Amino acid sequence: MIDFAAIPAVQRIPLNTKFCTTADVLRLDLVHPVISGNKWYKLKHYIEVARQQEKNTLLTFGGAYSNHIVATAAAAEMAGFRSIGIIRGERPAQLSPSLQQAASNHMQLIFSSREDYRLKKIPDTLNLRPHDYFCIAEGGYGALGAQGVADIIMPLQEKYSHILCAVGTGTTLAGIVKSGSAAAIGISSLKNNTQLHNAVNDLLSTDMKNKFSILHQYHFGGYARHTPELIMFMNDWYRQTGIPTDFVYTGKLFFAFTDLLKQGHFSKSDRVLIVHSGGLQGNRSLSKGTLIF
Ligand SMILES: *Cc1c(COP(=O)(O)O)cnc(C)c1O
Repeated sequence: MIDFAAIPAVQRIPLNTKFCTTADVLRLDLVHPVISGNKWYKLKHYIEVARQQEKNTLLTFGGAYSNHIVATAAAAEMAGFRSIGIIRGERPAQLSPSLQQAASNHMQLIFSSREDYRLKKIPDTLNLRPHDYFCIAEGGYGALGAQGVADIIMPLQEKYSHILCAVGTGTTLAGIVKSGSAAAIGISSLKNNTQLHNAVNDLLSTDMKNKFSILHQYHFGGYARHTPELIMFMNDWYRQTGIPTDFVYTGKLFFAFTDLLKQGHFSKSDRVLIVHSGGLQGNRSLSKGTLIF
């Protein structure tokens, strides 16, 4: 099992700029070779509560390329739970690499029509008894998920003036806001998701609401979309720093950071922490040779 209490490695990025004194990367991607970094921390408290409630099954929702599905399958197996993944859309002829990974961790995969998925229906044919299973929202969205992220960021907070992360559901960003007073900046990997700001606020207590910003101009076409410019950036970033990124979230995050740096967004005394939230398993859906790592 992953040691949730250990603080993951922090790597300093050499900067050839007069702006911003320090940029460090919190390497949550190193926590596990396959499973996405932030997802472990988001699952931590859900698993604790499921245990307290004496549930035997974790049930959650996601798409065919979901890092959350993969992480839930693996975490459930390690923690001694059965797991069920309700997957959006018809069963494909060939399972995606993410779903193959989840299946190898003994997750039961149930394919759900887009309409049923939207309504988050749990099929009656599963014959689940309500007191047996614990339901985790799509993407691990929720206050307990945010708390798990806050737990690891808290000890690092005072060293930094700004903390940047990638945003999907906004749970990780909410965790950063909860963890202290550094300026929290989220880079959205979704196109025009105007609901995100409210989704983050919903996870925060009144005194913390709106103490963050979300940048919407770095989506590269939208969720799970990419462009040659993004791929080129990801390869360059790897050459410069040795840090691999994924094309759904963290490639866009580091691109945004370098762009903000160029634009003079940070000042001379700023100390920036960038949270590498993992997700590298998602790159397996790119054709071979696209990335140099
Ligand atoms: C899921 C995921 C995110 C988004 O996290 P949220 O808490 O849903 O905003 C960011 N990066 C990676 C690599 C992820 O897998």
